[in-house]
Amino acid sequence: MNLRILEPNLASYPAAAKEFRWDQEWKALLGPSLSESVNLAELSTARAVRSGLSEQRAVRFVGAGGSRTDWTYGELHAKSLRAASGLRTFGIKKGDRVFSLLGRTPEFLLGILGTLWNGAVFAPLYSSFGPEPIRTRMELGRAKAILTTTDAYRKKIAPIRAMVPSLETVILTDASYEEARALRAISWSMLLDEGRAKFESEPTRLDDPALLHFTSGTTGMPKGVLHAHSAAVLHFTSGRLALDFHPGDVFWCTADPGWVTGISYGVFSPLLNGVTSILDEGPFDPIRWYKILQEEAVNVWYTSPTAIRMLMREGTELAAKHDLSSLRLIASVGEPLNAEAVLWGKEAFQMAILDNWWQTETGGILISNFRSVPVKPGSMGVPMPGIEAAIVERLPDGSVREVRSPLVKGERAIRPGWPSMFRGYLGDDDRYRSRFRDGFYLTGDLAMRDQDGYFWFLGRADDLIKSAGHLIGPFEVERVLMEHPAVWEAAVIGKPDPVSKEIVKGFVALKKGIQENDSLRIEILAHARKRLGPAIAPKEIAFLPEIPHTRSGKVMRRLLRARELGLPEGDLSTLEGGP
Ligand code: AMP
Repeated sequence: MNLRILEPNLASYPAAAKEFRWDQEWKALLGPSLSESVNLAELSTARAVRSGLSEQRAVRFVGAGGSRTDWTYGELHAKSLRAASGLRTFGIKKGDRVFSLLGRTPEFLLGILGTLWNGAVFAPLYSSFGPEPIRTRMELGRAKAILTTTDAYRKKIAPIRAMVPSLETVILTDASYEEARALRAISWSMLLDEGRAKFESEPTRLDDPALLHFTSGTTGMPKGVLHAHSAAVLHFTSGRLALDFHPGDVFWCTADPGWVTGISYGVFSPLLNGVTSILDEGPFDPIRWYKILQEEAVNVWYTSPTAIRMLMREGTELAAKHDLSSLRLIASVGEPLNAEAVLWGKEAFQMAILDNWWQTETGGILISNFRSVPVKPGSMGVPMPGIEAAIVERLPDGSVREVRSPLVKGERAIRPGWPSMFRGYLGDDDRYRSRFRDGFYLTGDLAMRDQDGYFWFLGRADDLIKSAGHLIGPFEVERVLMEHPAVWEAAVIGKPDPVSKEIVKGFVALKKGIQENDSLRIEILAHARKRLGPAIAPKEIAFLPEIPHTRSGKVMRRLLRARELGLPEGDLSTLEGGP
């Protein structure tokens, strides 16, 4: 069977958008007896078992050294209950916050499910964080427990343990009982031994907190974003409609568990849809990745623009050497996917890469390209059925008004009430309230909607450049710089200027094998000027070997700006390769 011709779940976007009702989605997820009592772990495991998927493979762990471990839904369910019971034995109760500093490992998956079964809140951190970002987040989140490895504990947590008074329990996934005890910790194997196979789960309701994410902080200090169990329904629906999950699919989400994508889509969306998820422990490596796509016969692949651009740097030859005929859908999130990258997908994989948009606060995909909707390369697509997205302008009195005319730049806003809407910023109610105004949730992104209803990203509102009376979103300039055949990646900032207030300065990383020199610089400047006009085009360009990114793949413009202006670099905990 040719998988690519499987009918998309979203056969007709206009019909789906018109007929869509959240209560129908709830029914599909919970069954006819709708109840307020909902638990993400229960829905991700027990529900699959109830629906006859007990023998179906739920997850395949691919170890960094190439090992493979499979668990069926039945096994995952049983193991998660045992982990839940062990966590309870060691004092984890409803409302407690359990942190994790782990990669995509079996213990990570059982840790999250076991925590949620107890009605506690799971807070994943990037496993590459150093002691300081770990301390600030555990303090802010009042961590009761943390799950990690012995090595990470010794290097990163032991030095700060005394500074986090709320931290009572350290669970080491790879330590023996004695090793753990010597470090005033509990070993994972003992936790499982203490756990019972039978476990009375803690009742949770729709609005009970389930997950605590820290945003990636492209623009400032990270914030703690709280999500409730009700997020399950958007994870479920977006998996079916945007990622087009079909029964039997193998799905690979490459996101780190420290980023919301590694949780909403790395864990819940595939389990809620009963498909098989690949959890790969290894780091990015083009050859390894193509091997996984081929050997695991991945059908749906969810990754990031940075990863796609890294693969582009290797050319299409590497893709051509692999049998990727199982792939039916490739999606990308986290940053705008430039048109070249979308189209490169057609060369390398014979399909356009589907960009979609959301943020930590939205909990799941809200704007997306779909298999059945024509792709406009460079656009993030159209709202998910059930989601009302708008462009708004802020008026001088602080109020907000929708802009209905197409192609007007403004802030992207969403009508509140979607099921995975965040429930608060930890310890910052004022900031939470400030994100809602006049019937809209304000995303902080600058965007534009075209005549056909497609959304185009222009930049983060905080990254906006104000130059000679123009408001410039960095990405509208970056996308043009990346059209130049020599340019691999680009980032632009506003640089103070006495005449224009700010001028646009571009930073460019060149494709492999291309040498930087002044004539190339002038050529790229001229290309941008021709495409953008003198008011918006960069006035200066500097070459960089790499563009700095966050660990979730976002361009860190504020760091470039700080370096350019000689200002303090600020919080670098989310910088790729940073502290
Ligand atoms: P985070 O909450 O850390 O995932 O960051 C969310 C932000 O990343 C959004 O508000 C956007 O600024 C950016 N973002 C995510 N996905 C996209 C996309 N597909 N296109 C453009 N920007 C994106």
